[in-house]
Order: sequence, then C-alpha cells, then structure tokens
Amino acid sequence: MGIYAVTGSASGMGAAVVTRLRADGHTVVGVDIGATADVVADLSTADGRNAAIEQVLSATDNRLDGAVMAAGLGPTPDATMFGTIANVNYRGVVDLLEAWRPALAASGNAKVVVFGSNSSTTVPFVSRRAVRALLDGDTESAVRRVRRLGKRASPLVYAASKVAVSRWVRRTAIAPEWAGAGIRLNAIAPGAVSTPLLERQLDSPSEGRAVRSFPVPVGGFGTPDQIADWVQLMLSPSADFLCGSVVFVDGGSDAYLRTDDWPRPVPVRQVPRYLARFARFSRRTGRGG
Ligand code: NAD
Repeated sequence: MGIYAVTGSASGMGAAVVTRLRADGHTVVGVDIGATADVVADLSTADGRNAAIEQVLSATDNRLDGAVMAAGLGPTPDATMFGTIANVNYRGVVDLLEAWRPALAASGNAKVVVFGSNSSTTVPFVSRRAVRALLDGDTESAVRRVRRLGKRASPLVYAASKVAVSRWVRRTAIAPEWAGAGIRLNAIAPGAVSTPLLERQLDSPSEGRAVRSFPVPVGGFGTPDQIADWVQLMLSPSADFLCGSVVFVDGGSDAYLRTDDWPRPVPVRQVPRYLARFARFSRRTGRGG
C-alpha cells in the first residue's frame, strides 16, 4: 500500500480521491485550508505553502508514492481575489511538487496527478503574457495584465492559471529528474463537475448563465466519483507509460469547441527547433544515430 499527499482534500474532487485511496488501503495525508484536513495550510501564501511542504514530508518520512494536486479556486468577478486564485492554482501546485520531488523519487515509481481544467483550452482571450509571467514566477505581473481587461477578466485569471500549470506539467514531466527518477507526472482536465466550486459559479448571476449554456455534448455535469476513477487509474501501474499528458474528462466540450485544433502537426517554421530537441535527446541518452 502507498503513501499519498492530496491537496484540496476537504471538498469536491480532492475529497472523492481521498475516499477512494483510503478505501483501497492507502495512507493519505490531506492538505487543505479547511479545518478538517490532516495538514491545514493556506496555499495562497508562501508561509502556508512552506508549512504544507514541511508537514507532509514529516508525516510521510520523506517518501511519497504519489500526490494529487486538487486544491483550487474557481473563477470570480471579484478582482481582489485574482492574486489568490493564481497563487493557489499555480504556486500551490508547483512550489509543493518541486519541494516534494526528492520524496517522490525516493519511492522509485511515484505517480502525480495535477488538476488542470478544460478552461485551459476553451476560454478565449487568455493572455499569453500572463501565462508566461506565471511560468516565470511573477504572479503580480500576470494578475496586472489580466486586470486591465476589467469586467471581462473574471474567467481569465483562472484559465491562465490552468494553462500555466498544465504547461508546467508538460515541461517538467519529461525532465530526467522526473521521468528519469520513475515519477509519472500528468494532468487531468475536468469539464464542469458537480462540486461546491461549480455550485458557487452556478449561484453567481454573472457566471451561472455562462456555465449553464456551455456546450457539453454528452449533456449535464460530471460527478466527483467519475473524476476519481480517472485519478485512480493515473495513480496505478496502468500509468507507467503515461508521462506529461493532459487528460481531458469533460463530456466532449473541448472536442466540440476545438475540434480540429488537436492533434496539430509540427508547423514548418518549428521543424528546426523540433530536430534540435530530437538530437539533444539522442545525445543525452546515447540512443539513436
Ligand atoms: P472544491 O471547491 O470542491 O474543492 C477545492 C478545495 O480546494 C477545497 O477543499 C478548498 O478548501 C481547497 N482550497 C481552496 N483554496 C485553498 C487554499 N488557499 N489553500 C488550501 N486549500 C484551498 O472544488 P473542486 O471542483 O473539487 O475542484 C478541484 C480542482 O478541480 C480545482 O483545482 C479546480 O480548479 C479544478 N476544476 C474544477 C472543475 C469543476 O467544474 N468543479 C472543473 C475543472 C477543474
């Protein structure tokens, strides 16, 4: 049986994952701002993130078989929350996983699932510069860029945080210190799932209409248990060959809105960069011609 850290353990999909892991006999250290968590920490602040990092390492004796990063805040029109959303959804994943990496490597076969969102591909007008600023560790500049859009900014900080965290997963998962250390790092991108986060959006006059009218080809909303099924699979040996993937479980919204955008062949102008990466891998691993 394994030892897992789960953030966002007090509610919604994180709570469903905790229930599933414990039912399978695993040990789980839940992290949340909610008072019922094993480790109570506010992931929007550096102090809270450091406390979560240290307390999980001490509770697990520096060895983790996996981590599920489900803590997150949804979109809100309240501009005073934009920095908090970016910090929880991006820094609350990246800072913790970077610090836990040696503990994940210690297990030799760890699996990590990060919660992205299908907002990363279905929300228009997400600022590339805001995404880049998040990836560069500059939350304030990312938030400043989005705030300039005024009322339209509501879903954009959330979507930017989910693009950035998904991109971080793809960049990081393939690195020798991760893939080469036996760690399988992947993201799940849910669509609308019935949780307190979604309920809050449905209750908001500005967000509710957008959520209800959003195209979902299979109809309705997903359930936390349906998502927990996928997370369970992504934590299992079935995921040994899964690396840097962003798995969309969204009732078909992304396929409907972005039908022909993916898979995307390598554009001609990117071929030199593509070949350079190819060659770098061959040199590093000694494989190939
Ligand atoms: P939820 O609100 O039910 O659970 C989120 C948990 O994160 C809560 O327990 C909350 O206390 C915790 N959290 C929030 N701020 C925190 C902070 N500062 N420090 C520590 N913990 C904090 O939401 P959910 O719908 O289960 O969301 C889980 C993840 O899935 C989130 O990352 C969310 O962005 C993502 N997501 C949700 C949906 C959806 O429709 N519900 C869709 C796509 C992606």
